[in-house]
Amino acid sequence: MIEILEPFAPIEELNYSLYKQYGVHVFIKREDLSHPYISGNKWRKLKYHLLAAQAQEKQHLQTYGGPYSNHLLATAAAGAKYGFKTKGIVRGEPVSNPILKLCSLFGMGLAFVDRERYKILVQEALQENSNTTSYIIPEGGGGALGEKGVAELVQPWEYQHVFTSVGTGSTMRGLLKGMQDANNLGTVQGVVVLKGAEAMAQEFINFPAHSYQLHFNYHEGGYAKSNAELMQFIKDFASETGVLLDQVYEAKMIKALNDLIAKGSIQSGQKVLALHNGGLSGLLSQLY
Ligand SMILES: *Cc1c(COP(=O)(O)O)cnc(C)c1O
Repeated sequence: MIEILEPFAPIEELNYSLYKQYGVHVFIKREDLSHPYISGNKWRKLKYHLLAAQAQEKQHLQTYGGPYSNHLLATAAAGAKYGFKTKGIVRGEPVSNPILKLCSLFGMGLAFVDRERYKILVQEALQENSNTTSYIIPEGGGGALGEKGVAELVQPWEYQHVFTSVGTGSTMRGLLKGMQDANNLGTVQGVVVLKGAEAMAQEFINFPAHSYQLHFNYHEGGYAKSNAELMQFIKDFASETGVLLDQVYEAKMIKALNDLIAKGSIQSGQKVLALHNGGLSGLLSQLY
């Protein structure tokens, strides 16, 4: 029997000059502290997949991701921790990088497939789960089980705004579900890190329009695109607050929050919660 304990992910107020200047109280939920490699939302999204794999008596986990996927690494580390063999299907040409090396250290077998084939396999993965010896976890760990795990992180809160970064949107859907379940009134603010992803709005229309907002202007050039200004922001923020942000997701989310405060969209006296969804291996892999 595997037992998955509630992770350590405290809420801390951020001590940051901009927030003082505008009189906004910004808190951060340190999901990044839950585990160094099964980090943040990936931990939340994996929980019910792991329990389902166990219930189905599967000994192997198979999942999908890009060569810098936080989800692949989380699955590798969680598989090792909870006694599953793991296989990662990696998008694109065979490459080596610190993330994939960590996956290997945790015993994950890696198979590289070209982008065309990868797309097909990822679609197939959404259907499977009865005909194989492996439990298939969808790309990014999403789906209903992933969202259920995320919903659990919500408590009865009194924040006017809850910020999250948005990749596939599973985390934001789970968060919205959790906010509803807890009868929280705050608005979920989703900062989309992909360029040209406006069609994604369709995937949220089942939630009341007043309960959330999606922001499409903070992708900084697109998914995983970084620049000197963003890296400088990470440095300034870390040195002022003690909190590291990854360049793919969390730095863009906090930059968006700061911009909305500076523009007056978030007002003096309001309380804001930002989810830190982890991803720091991705930052470190750029520094090594
Ligand atoms: C995967 C990931 C996200 C995106 O989560 P989605 O559920 O795909 O929207 C955000 N932040 C970090 C650090 C991640 O690893």
